[in-house]
Amino acid sequence: MPSPTLIRKRLNELELRSRLRARPRVQGRVLAPAGAFRRLPRAAGLYFPFYHDVLPEYATDLRRHLLTFRRHGELVSWDEALGILAGRRPMHGPVFCLSFDDGHATWRDVVTPVLHEIGVPAMFFVTTDLIGRPGNLTWSDCRAMAAAGFDFGSHTVTHQRLADQDDRAAAHELIDSKHEIEDELGSEIRDFAAPYGHPAVDYGRRDVEIARGAGYRSFASTLRPAIHAGDSPLAINRQGLHPAWPLWAVRTRIHD
Ligand SMILES: [Zn+2]
Repeated sequence: MPSPTLIRKRLNELELRSRLRARPRVQGRVLAPAGAFRRLPRAAGLYFPFYHDVLPEYATDLRRHLLTFRRHGELVSWDEALGILAGRRPMHGPVFCLSFDDGHATWRDVVTPVLHEIGVPAMFFVTTDLIGRPGNLTWSDCRAMAAAGFDFGSHTVTHQRLADQDDRAAAHELIDSKHEIEDELGSEIRDFAAPYGHPAVDYGRRDVEIARGAGYRSFASTLRPAIHAGDSPLAINRQGLHPAWPLWAVRTRIHD
């Protein structure tokens, strides 16, 4: 029998979850007018749209976003995107590289079925302390996704803002998360996405240097402009989206 405190906690979680669930469409409508004078990109450039949780009611919305990106350009894996940055792969138009943050159980139940269905590669940035918690994946889920061909990167151990951490704590977030994912998945982890992701506000040069020293080859922010061949893989810009947003709202984040 769960205690009254536990029940109250669970009810609070449910209430919070339903409030958050109600918000993205509202948020999309608020953003949409700003997208009226924007268009999805036509010029060559690398875009890294990313999402968090994708609840089942948004599966068709996610599919619609991805099919729209594909009408405008190629959808590539993280490796392929880094190949373009390094100049090893040509880029003739817009190119999109998809990622997901945190560790949501809906990656297993909602996201990967959509990605399989339409043949889209993706990177999953994991906050290691979330794995195994309610509403999140287990390591065995992650292993199954990796075996199915999806990529994994680190999104720290505890999802703290790196800029608030002393040197030792920042190193723990960057290095111990890398090692834990490597131990669990049995493959090298070389890509990192910073929580919150704004350079100078949420992380700094120190954190990029720790990442480089730890063996990461890429470091992602949440700055929005497209990046191009010759730009540094340690300063990848990603555009945060919610699947519930109408395309007008998507165009406020991804445009040329
Ligand atoms: Zn995050």
